[in-house]
Amino acid sequence: MEIHVQLATRSKMFCACLVEPGAPPNERVCPVCLGMPGSLPVINRRAVEFAVRMALALNCTVARFTKWDRKSYFYPDLPKNYQISQYDLPIGAGGHFRISTKEGGDRTIRIRRAHLEEDAGKNLHEGLDHTRVDLNRAGTPLLEIVTEPDLASADEAYAFATELQRLVVWLGVSEANMQKGQMRFEPNVNVSITEGGREFRTPIAEVKNLNSFRSVRNAVAYEVDRQRAQWKADHGYTLDQHGKMNFGWDDVRGVTEFQRGKEEAHDYRYFPDPDLVPVLFEPDWLSEQAASLGELPQARQARLRESIGLSEADAATITADRATSELFDTAIAAGADGKVLGKQFINFWSAQANAKGVSIAGLGVSATRIAELAKLTAEGIVSASAAAQIAEKMLGNEESPTAIANREGLVQVRDESATQAWVDQAIAANAQAVADAQSNPKKKQAAIGFLRGQVMKLSGGKADPKLVGELLEKKLSE
Ligand code: ZN
Ligand code: MN
Repeated sequence: MEIHVQLATRSKMFCACLVEPGAPPNERVCPVCLGMPGSLPVINRRAVEFAVRMALALNCTVARFTKWDRKSYFYPDLPKNYQISQYDLPIGAGGHFRISTKEGGDRTIRIRRAHLEEDAGKNLHEGLDHTRVDLNRAGTPLLEIVTEPDLASADEAYAFATELQRLVVWLGVSEANMQKGQMRFEPNVNVSITEGGREFRTPIAEVKNLNSFRSVRNAVAYEVDRQRAQWKADHGYTLDQHGKMNFGWDDVRGVTEFQRGKEEAHDYRYFPDPDLVPVLFEPDWLSEQAASLGELPQARQARLRESIGLSEADAATITADRATSELFDTAIAAGADGKVLGKQFINFWSAQANAKGVSIAGLGVSATRIAELAKLTAEGIVSASAAAQIAEKMLGNEESPTAIANREGLVQVRDESATQAWVDQAIAANAQAVADAQSNPKKKQAAIGFLRGQVMKLSGGKADPKLVGELLEKKLSE
């Protein structure tokens, strides 16, 4: 898999132009990113820092000495006729990254390299009989990450893509918005087939520029099927004979489309860029960067699973983004019970966040108030369902959950005589259920459940379910 990540810097990779995708065409350009003769590039320090942080998080070895190379292309959206990239001395190399598989296991995906480069501009066709070029994007910093061929299926490619996105957003190195093209995936797919004791390998298909997780999964699955079928029809359809080919992905039709083959392969004529100085990293600075990464999402997810006993899926939801997982940790530190808090994050906070199209942290409810609601629930002052109602009323204000519970009459009634009266009333009104509960073993459980529901209904949801259960059992055994 090859991935391009647009780094979240204010300015471009080698000039001071702002990275601003919404700007009118060709208004965020200067002599450097327009490739004017005589203009000189200057390295964006922040982009280098982001690349190093990402390389460290991917367990790469960071080069002590790294340099810049020119990769020659001749395209209208690349006015210099070369892209500044890194060829033989990338910032990061030899890393690894873990993904969880659908079957519930773990797989380690080796990272071959991570290097910095600049993006090209955009060619706009728009149904005109000519092409227009917008160079606002030219020179935007990109981190290119390349894995070893360790991904073994469409599902693994999907898992890798989502997990990598969580990491880059977590580290703040990119917004990684797929729709905006801030993270683009290029799977290189081929199939190994063993027949009659011989191994056949189909030609590698590089599927260019996928910008959704779904298209990553679908394009890989499509290629696996297509290549297998093509090889079945023609056993000469092999890597040896055909090499590597480029394909595009048609998301509407759900098919890949051939773009170009081996004979058109580019000769990039890499050579060191004489206009840029090499970058040397001091060991102390590298250690500082490593130390400042903090707990990474996978480690945090494992911690929540092990220390609180959350399920893998729940722990993943809570650590989907850094702010939400920090909100969770802060609420625990404020005294919330981990299990109750975990349930509330999954049961209603995440539902509210989804409804609003934000993360849980994006709801803007403070950790203190979130912790207070969890405490009210854990202490039995409000029921689980009342807590969900209170949570809804906590949005967009600063009112404490206790105040809301009091105002809305959602505090659980643990007054035994009041509860007893509801139990008596439910028993008097449901003779058949009482008879079933007392003398029909087949219907006993259902009848008791029904009666408990009736009592809760009579109490307006305020009775303490535990007390109701106790009083109901006592009354039925009389
Ligand atoms: Zn510029
Ligand atoms: Mn690239």
